[in-house]
Amino acid sequence: MYRARRLMILGLAVILLLSALLSGCRSEPEPADMYVWEEEITAPTEPIPITEPKNISYRDNVHGAYPSCSVYPAGNDEGFYFSRVGTDLCYYYSFSEKSTIRMCSRPGCKHKDESCLSYISDLTCILEANGTLYAFCQDELSVRLLKIDPATGNRSTFYAWEGSVGEKYYMLNDCFYSCGRIFTTVNMVDGLSTILLQSIDLRDGALTTIAESSDLGSGEFLGAYGNYAFINWHGLTEELPKMEDYLKEHPNETELDYYSYINRFQKEHTGKQIRKYDLITGEHEDVYSLLQMGGTNAPDFNLTGSYCAFGKYLLYSLGKTTVCRYDMNSGEARELLTVENLWGAKLVDDRLLYWLLEEEQIKVRLRDVDTGEELIRENEGDNKALAFTVLGESATSFHGVYDDKLAWISKEDYYAEKYNRSVFYPT
Ligand SMILES: [Zn+2]
Repeated sequence: MYRARRLMILGLAVILLLSALLSGCRSEPEPADMYVWEEEITAPTEPIPITEPKNISYRDNVHGAYPSCSVYPAGNDEGFYFSRVGTDLCYYYSFSEKSTIRMCSRPGCKHKDESCLSYISDLTCILEANGTLYAFCQDELSVRLLKIDPATGNRSTFYAWEGSVGEKYYMLNDCFYSCGRIFTTVNMVDGLSTILLQSIDLRDGALTTIAESSDLGSGEFLGAYGNYAFINWHGLTEELPKMEDYLKEHPNETELDYYSYINRFQKEHTGKQIRKYDLITGEHEDVYSLLQMGGTNAPDFNLTGSYCAFGKYLLYSLGKTTVCRYDMNSGEARELLTVENLWGAKLVDDRLLYWLLEEEQIKVRLRDVDTGEELIRENEGDNKALAFTVLGESATSFHGVYDDKLAWISKEDYYAEKYNRSVFYPT
């Protein structure tokens, strides 16, 4: 339970630790709801020209924002939604206004209960998709997915996983949005615990169970794009032969023989798969060896410490030195970089941001994927470039961690290394 969220929290902890190490032990600025650093740093480098994101659709494969650790605010080009820990209240922060808006304009409202348009009881996670806000609410038994009109605060239940006392309950482990669908990882407990990997089509509300854990195996989402979802699967690589088929083929054997055969079969056919599910037909194929690109190294999806899908791409490494990118749309895998001392990597703005651990120092590089050109060079990869740790993006800004706090920065300022122009989230 909560594995994905634990991973995310762990990821944030690592990032915060990293930022703390990099920023040293300077004293905390005065607490304030939000403020902008106007101070210019000396001798700024020339900004890298910002082009439209070439391939990345930053709106796809975006994970839900959890108020308990607001790492991923639910954003769009104009701003983002977020909730303050322990309040069940939803707010909107506007980039252009540089201000926080409570989603309730009811005169006299005390913003304390369900009558308030900003109040979402049992709020556990929010997602923004095409101008609509989706909120997951978790109580002791059930999970509800609300669809909320941000302009009015009006909401309706879009889908509900209904538990029942003493029989079963549901827990939301993780969720993300991609290409018109919300993908959920839900734990159903009815004596046994079953992980359900599901998708909800936002056009018609149809829920599909793509895969579920069983004795035969289990998996987790890597990402999704178009009509395909990708699941990292551990378990049987071939279907268990049925007893009647086996006995038909081996007329002289008994049921006991079948079970010892199954024992051997399970040992021989257990392995890892990267399953590509066709969301229309429900069929899946294994693309594990395709991602190995002719080698023997296992694809490793832990380059970022959290998620590995960026728009239509999955980012992974082979043999701890090679960074590869898999296009979930075209099915093409491509090597982006081979380098010693690789510490981590992610895609930002369709560029490869990677960092190396050399002589106990973190060195940061930014590379144009198409030309191989290194983009942050002014300080020779000084770890200053990690001062702002990118966790997500919109068309014009990055959000992430700066000065140990969650913040956003315009891409222009980021590329000009004016990290002190970051704006802190009012969480
Ligand atoms: Zn209110």
